[in-house]
Amino acid sequence: MKEEDIRNRKAFNHYLKMVSRDVDNYFCVDNFIKINCPACSGEKFTKAFTKDLFTYVLCNQCRTLFVNPRPQYEVLNQFYAKSPSTKYWVKYFFKPVMEARRNKIFKPRAEQISQKFPEFKNGRIGDIGAGFGLFLEELRKIWGNAEYVAIEPSVEMEKICREKGLIVIPDMLEDIKDWNEKFDVLTSFELFEHLYNPHNFLKKVNKLLKKGGYFIMTTLNVQGFDIQLLWEQSKSVSPPHHLNFFNPDSIRCLMEKNNFQVISIKTPGKLDWDIVEGMVKNENIKLDRFWQLIIEKDDKTKDQFQQWLVKNNLSSHMMVEAKKL
Ligand SMILES: [Zn+2]
Repeated sequence: MKEEDIRNRKAFNHYLKMVSRDVDNYFCVDNFIKINCPACSGEKFTKAFTKDLFTYVLCNQCRTLFVNPRPQYEVLNQFYAKSPSTKYWVKYFFKPVMEARRNKIFKPRAEQISQKFPEFKNGRIGDIGAGFGLFLEELRKIWGNAEYVAIEPSVEMEKICREKGLIVIPDMLEDIKDWNEKFDVLTSFELFEHLYNPHNFLKKVNKLLKKGGYFIMTTLNVQGFDIQLLWEQSKSVSPPHHLNFFNPDSIRCLMEKNNFQVISIKTPGKLDWDIVEGMVKNENIKLDRFWQLIIEKDDKTKDQFQQWLVKNNLSSHMMVEAKKL
């Protein structure tokens, strides 16, 4: 898989410019709220950089990277619900690559999860931030008898999920009522980095799961190659969307604090190298001599390097499987 398969560079860059404009209209630093580390609750951190209005700090204790101070929960929700950049993202960025994403991301993900957790084939599966319902649709093709619930607050997308025959809870996860201990599996993909309060989110996930149920999620790993190398120039470091960058150790700590047993933490990313190479070739990013040398190497060398990143949990795409105790 290549970055261009799932992300049109021109549309993505235009979207990021729109986000910058929206930031000026929606956010005011004076109202931001100071927090402790979202992973270990540590109070000591070191400033990493500022991007637009947002300051990122690194926790001295667990090395989670996070926006601090950060915008209030309500303001973030308003931004997601109403900003022009969000509308652009759905229509011009996501929709044109939707089917490519289905085939390259959601279908393999559904296959992998169905193989790993056959005991839930007749269970109730909920996807938090289900979007267009692609993951649930793909899983339904494999497990025809399970019950599928899309947790999706966006008016436009919850309608699409309903049309696909999914049960829909049209709320933010934190606001859901009446579903305690009803789910066998909950998933959330590329959502955790956006959360105002990851601890409250996990507490709620734990409440909604049956005992022995699983939470499976993906998020960004601050110790991933492309993020480490590009740092504040990384497009993954995109406030106000991406507020939290955990790492394998800090996400484990947060999971265990919230009554989960961690089954696995892996970084099965495919795109780290491709993202870095794309930035050098298209966006005038300069790298050190060694990495410039690797750019001239053939695909086999680059593939092997990517595999090495995956094996050592050094890709920026992180996947966590955890069981409710
Ligand atoms: Zn910490």
